[in-house]
Amino acid sequence: MKDKQAEMKGILLQMKDDTLREISKAMKSGTDASSGEPSGDIYDQASSERDRELGLILGDREREKVRNIDEALQRIADGEYGICEECEEEIPLGRLKVVPFARYCVKCKADIEKQQAQTKRFEEDRAYRDIAMGEEEEA
Ligand SMILES: [Zn+2]
Repeated sequence: MKDKQAEMKGILLQMKDDTLREISKAMKSGTDASSGEPSGDIYDQASSERDRELGLILGDREREKVRNIDEALQRIADGEYGICEECEEEIPLGRLKVVPFARYCVKCKADIEKQQAQTKRFEEDRAYRDIAMGEEEEA
């Protein structure tokens, strides 16, 4: 268990580093490329303060990913990593290697996604009905 957590911590830290690098690159290409700033500068001085700063500017997807990684690292620190939050079963290492910040086992994740899809469909149906009703009233 300890070895598994140490291994996953390494993978998570690497993943976070990669994600932050991608973000830095994206930010660089999005800003003035001729500023003469030495490349690599932005992440060479990486600090938690800079991470927070980046967290404010990055896209939702990247921000979500970094947050997921941070949460997983926190769970490792708390000794809760690799335990399904739903059924409290140990999440198989094979799954953790594919999704290092997984919070649920495959079965619970599938159940949750099914529920979310149903909720979404329900909301879409309701929105559609609202629109349909609105049209009727105006007609
Ligand atoms: Zn589970």
